[in-house]
Amino acid sequence: MGTIDQTTYTLTCPQCLQTEKKKVLDKGSNYGGSHWQEGVDFSEFDVAWAGGGTSEPVITTAVCKKCNVPPSIVSSYS
Ligand SMILES: [Zn+2]
Repeated sequence: MGTIDQTTYTLTCPQCLQTEKKKVLDKGSNYGGSHWQEGVDFSEFDVAWAGGGTSEPVITTAVCKKCNVPPSIVSSYS
């Protein structure tokens, strides 16, 4: 224990193939429990988040700003 969690989200547009990777951090502590960020902004994708705080945020909708198509979303704990 004592490790702050983080999740890496990788979004890839199937049309223009641009990819962007962002980390979402749990800034909580052993004493206070989890305190997740409420999501992060992507520069190439419009992304809406749900959750944050005590629960890990998840992407609800995402779309490539250039192509207006949803990207593939890969999340990994790293
Ligand atoms: Zn695109």
